Amino acid sequence: MASCEICGEEMLNRVGCKVGICDCNGKSYPRIRFGTEKRFEGVFGDDDCCPDCLAPFESFHHFGCDIEECPVCREAIYGDCECHLVFPDLEGMGEKTL
Ligand SMILES: [Zn+2]
Ligand SMILES: [Zn+2]
Ligand SMILES: [Zn+2]
Repeated sequence: MASCEICGEEMLNRVGCKVGICDCNGKSYPRIRFGTEKRFEGVFGDDDCCPDCLAPFESFHHFGCDIEECPVCREAIYGDCECHLVFPDLEGMGEKTL
């Protein structure tokens, strides 16, 4: 099934991503946790999992999740964000660049 391309975790297990940072222009930024997105403020609570990547509340989204926001510009990573984010890869398959 769907496993995360940067941490290798199976998303259906409802666990958060193990990668908590990403890089932009050589600087490291902490990723935005599920439940703290500005465009979903107040929508999700303690018992919720991310509707896209199934990460539990206040944990990190998995790579490719549509809900995740960019920590640099606070826009949707796969939407309006135009930052060049680089995610470290715990699986050793190479860094992922958006
Ligand atoms: Zn992951
Ligand atoms: Zn997610
Ligand atoms: Zn951005």
